[in-house]
Formats: sequence, C-alpha cells, structure tokens
Amino acid sequence: MSLFENTLKQMKKASRLMNLDKDIEDILSRPQKIIEVDVPVQMDDGSSKVFKGFRVQHNNALGPYKGGIRFHPQVDMAEVQALAAWMTIKTAVVGIPLGGGKGGVVVNPKELSEAELERLTRKYTQLIAPVIGPKTDIPAPDVGTNPQIMEWIADEYSKIVGKNSPGVVTGKPLDKGGSRGRGSATAQGGVFVLNEYVKENGMDVRETKVVIQGFGNAGGVAAKLLVENGYVVLGASDSQGGIICTHGIDPNELLTCKIEKKSVKNCGRHVEEIHDKDGMTCRMVNNEELLEAECDVLVLAALENQITAENADKIKAKVVLELANGPISPEADEILHKKGIVVLPDILANAGGVTVSYFEMLQNADDKYWSKEEVISKLKDIMVHAWKEVNSTAKKYTCPLRVAAYITAIKLIESKIHNNL
Ligand code: GLU
Repeated sequence: MSLFENTLKQMKKASRLMNLDKDIEDILSRPQKIIEVDVPVQMDDGSSKVFKGFRVQHNNALGPYKGGIRFHPQVDMAEVQALAAWMTIKTAVVGIPLGGGKGGVVVNPKELSEAELERLTRKYTQLIAPVIGPKTDIPAPDVGTNPQIMEWIADEYSKIVGKNSPGVVTGKPLDKGGSRGRGSATAQGGVFVLNEYVKENGMDVRETKVVIQGFGNAGGVAAKLLVENGYVVLGASDSQGGIICTHGIDPNELLTCKIEKKSVKNCGRHVEEIHDKDGMTCRMVNNEELLEAECDVLVLAALENQITAENADKIKAKVVLELANGPISPEADEILHKKGIVVLPDILANAGGVTVSYFEMLQNADDKYWSKEEVISKLKDIMVHAWKEVNSTAKKYTCPLRVAAYITAIKLIESKIHNNL
C-alpha cells in the first residue's frame, strides 16, 4: 500500500465517524495540483545528471499551500502526495490560515557537493517557480533540506520575478528573514503536546523514560528539550544505529559526539566516559531493538512506516510521540490501540514547525522580528489549544487521538469550503 493510500485510510476513519459529506471527502481525497519535473544538473566533474522532482498542492481552502521540500533518495509521488495531504490537515489542526502542499527531489543530498546541491536547488526552483509564491505556495525545509537551501530558493525565485521575495519560503537563515525558534519548533511543539498529555494523565516527568528514534533536527532537539523538562532520555538512534543507557543519556554530549563521530552508534564509550556513574551501562542497539525497548514514551523522529503490522505487537512504550510524518502504518495504529498504547499523532505533535513558519510569514510581512521567548510562548498557546481541541474531540467521539485530530481539522476545512461555495 502506498503512503498516500495510508493517508486516505486514516481520513476515511474520521469521515465515517463524523458523517462527512461525500463532496468534501472527494475534495480531500485528491490533490488539487501535481507538478512533476526533470531537474538537469551539471555535476562538478563536467557530466550532467537528471533528478526527478515534485511539488504537490493538496488543498488551499484555509490559505496558500504550505509545506516543506524533501531531498531524499526514496522520495516518490505517492509519498509527496501523502505529505501534502498531511500538511492540509496539520495546519487546520493548529488553526493557522494555510493550506497543504509538499515538494520533493529524488536525491541523496549527502552525495552531492555544496555547489552541486546549489545548482540542483536553483534549477528545481526555476521549474516550480510558476506555481509557488509568497501568496500562493510557500515551501519550507523538510528531511534533507535546510535554511541554506531555503535561501537559494528565495534568491533564485527573486531573480525570476525581478524583485526581492524572501516571503516565498520559510525556514530561512536568521539574517535572511528567518524566525527565531524555527529550527527547534517541531521538537518544541511536540514537547508541549507531550507535557499536556503527561499532566492530564497524572504522570511524573522525572519518572517518565523516553527513547528517541532519529537524532537529527527533530529528535536531537527533542532530546535536549525533554531533559530540560525533567524527563529521563534513556537512548536515541540515527540511521546507522543507536545507544541506550540505564541511567539515561546526556543529549548535549551525544549531539557533540554525533557531530564528531558521524553517528550515535560510535558514541558508546564516549557517553560512558562522560557520565561515569555507578552501575551505569550503555548498550549499542540496532533500529529494531531501539523501537522495542522498555520505556514509557517512544519518540518517532525519523521517517515514515517505522511501526507496521510486523513490529507493532512488540512495542513496549505506553505512549508514542510522532515527530516524523507518518511513522506508524494504519494497521499498526490499530494494533497499538488494541494494546492500549496511546499515539500522539503527527498531524498534531509535529505541527510546531509549520506554526513557526507561519510566525515567520507574519514577521516578514511586518518587518518586525520577535524574540525567541515570544515565539515559544505563542507556539505554546497554539499547541496547548490544539491539544485541548483534539483531546476533547477524542472524548466526544470515543476515538483515538489521530482520528480526533482529523475530525477537528476536517470540520474547519469543511466550513471554509461551504462558505466559499
Ligand atoms: N516540513 C515541515 C512539516 O512537515 C514544516 C513545513 C513548513 O514549515 O511549511 O511539517
């Protein structure tokens, strides 16, 4: 089953429960526009290569299409469609006036030189320029892209339209109109949601043990914030492997080590040396062992389809926080639900990123920049409010939080579409 079919399956659960009009379901079941491009790039050795690129505009009922651009070798059209649809739902869950879109290029950015990456980004921008713009479709970073890439897009787009247009992307570097707190926003938003859940369920953060899959922008920052909030982070992994320590890891040390030694899998001894606590043991784990570790909260901050029908039964966490998009398949969702494992779903839990992207748009329009504290406090208000909405919808419909998040979002989109008909 493709990732987009997974999305439709999730949506269907909500539309059945809320008795959604067939016409609205049809509108949300397909993207409004799909762009597929061949991106020719001159390589450093003089040869040229063609990369496949996409931009999918799913729905703009609430506002301009909004969503990241992914550079990854496994990108495909169905994935980009799924990610675009999730953006439509996500922006509605947090109630910001934006629609949903997503882009992607089939490339491993780690295999390109900086100059090749810049040429690829500029060429891709030229090809999608007719459909993006500060008031129509605003890309942002996603897996494999970053503020530097956003700056190249803004620069190339500005050249094409003949005027400085930083508003065409968000997630820009700070000195190019970016927002403070954007880099940590996805993780921060997820931690706000988890904090609410923990409070509501009378859990004690100091006794809440967390394991994190993914130690990049979302997972690495989440580890730091969770420890700052008092949680015990037992372990983390990246694409090459992971580490779990009985007394918990120090995220700052692990981040430093990962930069130095390329992967957390090379950090075992390092962490032991740094902590040197009595009885402290650290073990290196593979991806499977990490996902199946004993813990209270499992944070999924890597890629999609990490928990499927194959391994769902072996998950021991009580709560799963989805910072990645689509890390749990619909079949796995059902298994986890039956086991009583609560999922804090992506369309709520990782909406902090796009929320601060929206803040960036507001700051660009005003040409006034907010302090990091201001950004975090406004983000908290939005995330806590969204959590309350979704949680009360879950109680009202007696359904899992993911279905409730879809219902909350679709209701808003439906009323907007009806008003515009
Ligand atoms: N790529 C992020 C996401 O999946 C952020 C998108 C944005 O800021 O527009 O939510």
